[in-house]
Amino acid sequence: MGPLHDVLDLVEFKQLTAAEALIDWRAAPKRPVHPALAQWTEQAVHGYLTAVAALRAAPGVPCGEPLEPVSRLWARQRGPLKPGDPDMYEELVTDRRYAGHGVRELRVVRMGSVRNRPRDDIEIAVAVGVLAGGRPVLSSRWDRNPLRLGQSESARLVRLVEIGCADASHRVLFEGTRAEAYACYDSSVEAHIEQLIAGGSYRPGEKCGGCDAVDNCPAVPSVPGLLGVSASGSPRRSWSVTTGRTHRRCPARAHMESLFLPRDAAIEDKEAITRGKAVHAWIESRHRRTPQQPCVPDDVPGPPEAWEYGGWRVTGLQARLGIQMIGDHALVCPLRDRPEDTEVHPERAIAVYDPDADVVIVAKTDLLYRVSDRWALRETKTVRALSEGDPLEQHPQLALAVLLAQAGALPGAGHWQVELERLTGSGPVVTQLDVTAPDVIARAQHVLDPYITPWRADSQYPTKAGKACEDCPFTRWCPDAAKRSST
Ligand SMILES: [Zn+2]
Repeated sequence: MGPLHDVLDLVEFKQLTAAEALIDWRAAPKRPVHPALAQWTEQAVHGYLTAVAALRAAPGVPCGEPLEPVSRLWARQRGPLKPGDPDMYEELVTDRRYAGHGVRELRVVRMGSVRNRPRDDIEIAVAVGVLAGGRPVLSSRWDRNPLRLGQSESARLVRLVEIGCADASHRVLFEGTRAEAYACYDSSVEAHIEQLIAGGSYRPGEKCGGCDAVDNCPAVPSVPGLLGVSASGSPRRSWSVTTGRTHRRCPARAHMESLFLPRDAAIEDKEAITRGKAVHAWIESRHRRTPQQPCVPDDVPGPPEAWEYGGWRVTGLQARLGIQMIGDHALVCPLRDRPEDTEVHPERAIAVYDPDADVVIVAKTDLLYRVSDRWALRETKTVRALSEGDPLEQHPQLALAVLLAQAGALPGAGHWQVELERLTGSGPVVTQLDVTAPDVIARAQHVLDPYITPWRADSQYPTKAGKACEDCPFTRWCPDAAKRSST
């Protein structure tokens, strides 16, 4: 969002047109900008300004006299909510701020569309509370000792608007008097804020990749040298096997993913991928039952010609194959022998930090389970035919699992093993990997290296236009994307 705000600042505070502002910004960006982010920014500037032009004036604001942009942030300071609380809380709003004619308006900028975006009543209540009672912030927003606030006239009307930059959509989330704004901040909002302040247990997982405190988190194991690369001074990043795989196909696509640029939903999954997801979703649901029960061969979805599970719909051959694979899984289900003495964690995300690489590794595992004192990580793959060759090479997640198990970075204490369950057209096959064997560890490192080293060293993220564009959801933002018609 940084570049978008930089350009909008030029439009609003230097009175440039959008075209002039974009030229100035391109000539001297505050920080290096990837061409895809530049393309998104350009469209987002037009999206924002188009949405704002279509926004109706707030009540009492004369036509043709728009609100003035406000450069200072707004914040409010509040006393303790209940006895025993700290002396003061500060609530601050960022995004784009405007004032005039007794109105205070905050426009929250979203990267994608705001059509059908879920409404967050707690966010709205906090934001309009600050609009109603906040004052301009004079000190740096990072200098909380506490914030130094200036004076300003209170508003007769506050308004909260949300703008979707991808399609110039907008909606007014709140418009009302100060009293009406304060009334949004009811007991349920206060209870939620109190919960935020009180904190809770650690929940390590996929979100650790974006957390600034991950290097000090007691719930995220630190394994120096896990990835075998050094940070060489570049900023912290988050890596998963998917990141590595995408980066190998097209570095720019991996970068756009990490920027959370809006995706095109129209790219359809291939049939076999959909079948794999449907089978996974069904097996996961069986493993989540309480009390725990082993999977049984005749507990399968239907009807055989077309079925749907977890939002994944399969028909014909894929539907029949999926049912056969689910039935086959029962023969190798980890719960089949001693369900009462087995602990299962389906679809668990694991986060590990490698300080040498300054990388947060996120692994989404299919199943972690324990039978008496032995733990196993099982990856389940659905493949029509069993292929020859090294399973680690074919499934880099397995190589990562070996390294995590070997480094003691998995959550259960004790002995770990890694398993590959392949559900094939001709039956189930479970392969066990000894994570203490030096040759297995060396192969796992060898397999992962091409997914890690070039990615960690990359700071430019060049595009690799061509085949990778065929199913890329970001071609809209990519200046080099191969034209769909030519692929
Ligand atoms: Zn099972």
